[in-house]
Amino acid sequence: MIYLKTDEEIELLRENNLLVSQTLAEVGRHIRPGVTTLELDRIAEDFIRAHGAVPAFLGYQGFPASLCISVNEQVVHGIPSADCVLKEGDIVSVDCGTFMKGFVGDSAYTFAVGEVAEEVRQLMEVTKEALYKGTAQAKAGNRVGDVSAAVQEHAERFGYGVVRELEGHGLGRKMHEDPGVPNYGARGRGPLLKEGMVICIEPMINMGAKAVVFERDGWTVRTRDRKPAAHYEFAVAVRKDGPDVLTDFSIIEQAINN
Ligand code: MG
Ligand code: MG
Repeated sequence: MIYLKTDEEIELLRENNLLVSQTLAEVGRHIRPGVTTLELDRIAEDFIRAHGAVPAFLGYQGFPASLCISVNEQVVHGIPSADCVLKEGDIVSVDCGTFMKGFVGDSAYTFAVGEVAEEVRQLMEVTKEALYKGTAQAKAGNRVGDVSAAVQEHAERFGYGVVRELEGHGLGRKMHEDPGVPNYGARGRGPLLKEGMVICIEPMINMGAKAVVFERDGWTVRTRDRKPAAHYEFAVAVRKDGPDVLTDFSIIEQAINN
């Protein structure tokens, strides 16, 4: 069941996703060699609660933290830990969710820890570009497959692996609503995009092969070949005249470039 949102509901989703963007910016300010992923989780939880929201991931299907933090070969759903100390050259994908005023925010960003290798920097850039290309297709009258194909084509042009097992989703009063939004697919296929749909587009792109492994902690997903992966996520409202992006990466990028 796909729920179309009113303008008022989209503004509540925007408020949530703005808070997610601000939280990711706050986390980004603290990312440096020596910090643990548990410390980053605490910073995010405090920040979210101080702004009158609740961390949407905490307790979701039993998830034990406020952020999913996935380092290097971890693709998504990494569990923050006091044992996970970031080091120079790592990349760290941070996925954040909020719940406030009856709606959910959900966005993700991959950060560099200090200087990263050129090929890793390219993986990050291309994954973000794939997100932008997919987002450009999120207009009423297109289909989910138009978004999916745009993401896949851009990533595969660079020889990267596009993860198949996980996908984007509708967003609203619940974190995961219909439709599913895969990162691979065919143009002109899949559910029709309509004015008022809100979807999360979230490329998970591997430097190497597309295959992933689900770790025994029940959550962490990593690349099978242990090459790095990147993950960026936008919440987007579908409009007649094009995408209305509810996430704001400029807040994050201002924070980390200062
Ligand atoms: Mg997310
Ligand atoms: Mg999501």
